[in-house]
Amino acid sequence: MEYPKKPLINSEAYLARHCNGMDPNIFFPSYNNKTEQAKAIAEASLICEGCPIQQACYELAVKNHEKLGIWGGSYFGGNRRV
Ligand code: SF4
Repeated sequence: MEYPKKPLINSEAYLARHCNGMDPNIFFPSYNNKTEQAKAIAEASLICEGCPIQQACYELAVKNHEKLGIWGGSYFGGNRRV
């Protein structure tokens, strides 16, 4: 039996995402210490606040077992130090 494929995110919402056109490195920050890390995570998470696909972004990251970056406003561990 085949199930209809339903997109997780509709294209209108996807185009309206808050990070559209931004430098992706914002969501994969480099830092030298815990203070810089906290600041970078807070700044990226703020961009995600109220994003029309925030929940879907987070759920997709969980589904994909993301280990690095900020997705849906949440930090997914990882250490990317400069
Ligand atoms: S929730 Fe996801 S799609 Fe929206 S701004 Fe944050 S990283 Fe981008």
